[in-house]
Amino acid sequence: MAKSTKASWNGFSLKPRKEMPEGLWLSCPSCKAMLFKKSLDENLSVCPDCQYHFRIDGPTRVNHLIDEGSFEEICPDLSSSDPLSFVWGDKSYRDRIRVNPEQLAAHEAMLAGKAFIRGRGVMLAVMNFSFLGGSMGMVVGEKFCRAIDRAIEETLPFVCVSCSGGARMHEGLVALQQMAKTSAALARYDQANGLYLSILTDPTTGGVAASFSMLGDIIIAEPKALIGFAGPRVIQQTIKIELPEGFQTSEFLLEHGFIDMIVHRKDLRSEIGRLIDYFGK
Ligand SMILES: [Zn+2]
Repeated sequence: MAKSTKASWNGFSLKPRKEMPEGLWLSCPSCKAMLFKKSLDENLSVCPDCQYHFRIDGPTRVNHLIDEGSFEEICPDLSSSDPLSFVWGDKSYRDRIRVNPEQLAAHEAMLAGKAFIRGRGVMLAVMNFSFLGGSMGMVVGEKFCRAIDRAIEETLPFVCVSCSGGARMHEGLVALQQMAKTSAALARYDQANGLYLSILTDPTTGGVAASFSMLGDIIIAEPKALIGFAGPRVIQQTIKIELPEGFQTSEFLLEHGFIDMIVHRKDLRSEIGRLIDYFGK
């Protein structure tokens, strides 16, 4: 039998994605308009023609949200151990997470720190999809909880931006445990009368969607983000029912009462400021 030379699994290519070189044109996945990357960056990575919100990495998100230069990152050097001695393909998990921080904008799937947003002090946690798909492992859980502890200590509002494929399989149960750990931290924060604004971006799925993302006092989503626990194909194959159009999008979830509002990326800063003032935090 002829061997397939194409590296693929269920239609997904296993080839590493190429980084988009600076200064090139790219095509909008939604309206197919050709966009100059530099202009797109200046427009907060939103297509000016159809308002498609491109996925952005954690550090870029932080820069979009905060008052310039106000981010004081906490515990940036935390790194995972390898509890399962996990090997994936030809590389161990330990090797995969050992990256040169200069090569990657951030070397874990979450950045957390104190910052100012439109002059209001906040604790901010932002997920970084460019590190292993924003997956939640022990470092994400630990940073999240330390940010909450600091928010309680300094009576600050807590803002979290989710962007994740779910729990990190390489850490097994330890990754799943972060769902309970982050939820418990939020319960402590709630008892301390904290205000938690949860912002869901494309994609917010799996263990993150099933824990801290959906526990916000106010849940905000970016337009047309994929938000859900299991993927639509898995659900359809399990329950054998045709899923409604737009299932698991921000718009569908708003209509069905799972989230509170949809906010365009350009309005996020002002909306966060408005909500903090409204709740008097
Ligand atoms: Zn477009």
